Amino acid sequence: MKTPRYDDLGQRVTDCCGTYSTYFDATLVCKKCYHAVPIGQGDGNEFKEGVTADAYFAAAFSQEGA
Ligand SMILES: [Zn+2]
Repeated sequence: MKTPRYDDLGQRVTDCCGTYSTYFDATLVCKKCYHAVPIGQGDGNEFKEGVTADAYFAAAFSQEGA
């Protein structure tokens, strides 16, 4: 099994490119290579152990203002 990849704040990103994903019709695809990825990779639904969605987005928004 591959080690899951995460961004700096702990959100799961795509295994292929280490970036975020988006829906293309009903298929979740990597934003960089456009290959289909499993739900949870880069879609904002999966986080590193110990990181909650609330903590992640609070940290992300506080960085935006910096
Ligand atoms: Zn990719």
